[in-house]
Amino acid sequence: MYITCLDVEGVLVPEIWIAFAEASGIPELKKTTRDEPDYDKLMNWRLSVLKEHGLGLKEIQETIAKIDPLPGAKKFLDELRTFSQVILISDTFTQFATPLMEKLGWPTLFCNTLEVAEDGEITGFRMRCEQSKLTTVKALQSMGFETIASGDSYNDLGMIKASKAGFLFRSTEQIKADNPDIPAYEEYDELLAAIKKAMK
Ligand SMILES: [Mg+2]
Repeated sequence: MYITCLDVEGVLVPEIWIAFAEASGIPELKKTTRDEPDYDKLMNWRLSVLKEHGLGLKEIQETIAKIDPLPGAKKFLDELRTFSQVILISDTFTQFATPLMEKLGWPTLFCNTLEVAEDGEITGFRMRCEQSKLTTVKALQSMGFETIASGDSYNDLGMIKASKAGFLFRSTEQIKADNPDIPAYEEYDELLAAIKKAMK
């Protein structure tokens, strides 16, 4: 029994913080884990910037609603879900991803949660578990599933390597060069065919 685990940002939707920085006109929010490797520090800084700009959850969701999934992503996901159970696993937050999940037809999403006050202010965040992608595929395997995984970034390598089959999708030249054993694809058709083949 197979289950497909997909990364979200960079695979199905644009990088949410970068797209949000553009949509909201707050360019400093483009700072990512490449600039600040301490995720907690980065997130606390982002929340302080949102507060400075008077952005609560409602305003953020309205802005994120202007962001679209990557072209072809919904069609890919719809087709994939006809022959495989699919779970999207992301380090982002449910409340940020929700407007994008609506545009993708409400797929199953495992991610993290923002803490929001009654007036809509984002007061904090809660990460679901350590190494959420790897932890999730291992848990699925313990339930009798064989996993197939795909993602574009460093934090996807754990689940990709631990799965029966794993693929890089629209990754960087560096990650592809460092991981020559992992098949890498650029187009949804190729990824769909590779997943289908892995399930045979
Ligand atoms: Mg990604």
